[in-house]
Amino acid sequence: MTVAAILLGVLLVALGIWQRRIDRRERARVVTAIEEAKSLGADRPIGQYPHIDALRCIGCASCTRACPEDGVIQMVMGVAHVVQAAKCIGHGLCAAACPVGAIAVGLGDLSARPDVPMLSDDLESTVRGVFIAGELGGLALIRNAIEQGVRGIEAVAHRCREERGRGDPDVLIVGAGPAGLAASLKAKELGLTYVTIDQNDVGGTVRKYPRRKLVMTQPVELPLHGRVKKTEFVKEELVDLWLKVLEEQEIEVHEGVKFLGTRREDGRLVSETSKGPIATRCVLLALGRRGTPRRLGVPGEEQEKVLYQLVDASTYRGLRCLVVGGGDSAIEAALGLAAQPGNQVTLSYRKPEFFRIKARNEERIRAAAAEGAVKLALGSEVRSVGVQHVDLALGGRAARLPNDFVFVFAGGEPPYPLLKGIGVRFWGEVAA
Ligand SMILES: Cc1cc2nc3c(=O)[nH]c(=O)nc-3n(C[C@H](O)[C@H](O)[C@H](O)COP(=O)(O)OP(=O)(O)OC[C@H]3O[C@@H](n4cnc5c(N)ncnc54)[C@H](O)[C@@H]3O)c2cc1C
Repeated sequence: MTVAAILLGVLLVALGIWQRRIDRRERARVVTAIEEAKSLGADRPIGQYPHIDALRCIGCASCTRACPEDGVIQMVMGVAHVVQAAKCIGHGLCAAACPVGAIAVGLGDLSARPDVPMLSDDLESTVRGVFIAGELGGLALIRNAIEQGVRGIEAVAHRCREERGRGDPDVLIVGAGPAGLAASLKAKELGLTYVTIDQNDVGGTVRKYPRRKLVMTQPVELPLHGRVKKTEFVKEELVDLWLKVLEEQEIEVHEGVKFLGTRREDGRLVSETSKGPIATRCVLLALGRRGTPRRLGVPGEEQEKVLYQLVDASTYRGLRCLVVGGGDSAIEAALGLAAQPGNQVTLSYRKPEFFRIKARNEERIRAAAAEGAVKLALGSEVRSVGVQHVDLALGGRAARLPNDFVFVFAGGEPPYPLLKGIGVRFWGEVAA
């Protein structure tokens, strides 16, 4: 055997060992990411998500490169794997990019989805007269929401023609995200009488995207407006377009009105809302799936300075901010606010230690606390919110902090119990 052959052999063995080490490290990284996603519930999809045929996957990673969201698909030992299903918003770019057709994007096995309501082809739920459109029905994406809002109202119009009733409005449209907006426009186009309400303001989930976020959609037909051909918008452009169309068409949305349930009474549906009952012949629910932010339930919470999201930290400068919560969103908000000039940031969490947060966030918040950029009030509870202060119970004592803004991240109430209370049935529960 020549020296060259021996050297080549040694080189190959060394390369093999090196490759195995990289593989082990990579595998450990992804296993940690999978465990982290599971502990945060982020492994569970919100709507449609990629289904990967591992036997077909050739490990080219085209899917991970094509996905515009971060961390949905990751490579594990050369095979694509869904890690953070909750971050998938259903674009399907992964499936389009896969050269061997190993990916399909869909809702998966419906019998395993207790979060997907049973709907007829025309989007009627198991409760007669209650229709469901948009992401609440299981399918994400703005284009799907708009198409379903239109389809739901066409079905409502059909029902109203079939059943002539008394003088109540034809339909209550709940939600003013893309599905509810499209539904309201279609209702006007078809000459239906309607009432549209939203517990917040117009725009739905899109309005809550981070500032200047690039929104991707496909050309879509908006009733009374025509075809929206543009496929990329920054969030503000899209919201402005919707507001303009609503104004032109004189569509009224009753903002700040929460839907609480509906029941059938004398052949019509009487819906309870935070501003009193509304009787209509049909109800179209376009609530989305993101839920209602959980409130603290303390005096003073109704003030405008109390917010349940942080869209753009850079708009808060030179302010005294209290962030409430101990999850990743609260920590990321506190860090974002602390990075702005002149802010004084306190993080209040009712537990004595952080629990189930990303390791990276725990490191960053501890470092920010050590530098004095964020004050940690662990084991504290907000008692009341004043105009210029907040009162906390901290370690059994009362503490008053000067305050300009309170950001609450106490989780959300998902819409499913509300639907179940009305009598809507879900696929998973039927299988169980
Ligand atoms: C971070 C992020 C990025 C995304 N990016 C894209 C993208 O680039 N392209 C794309 O096509 N899709 C994207 N999506 C998905 C898209 O935003 C949703 O699929 C779409 O907004 C769903 O529309 P919707 O009308 O069904 O529900 P939503 O937009 O969620 O609107 C629901 C509305 O109902 C209201 N509501 C809820 N409960 C009640 C109640 N009880 N009473 C009264 N009102 C109520 C809410 O206040 C809200 O206004 C993204 C989603 C997220 C989270």
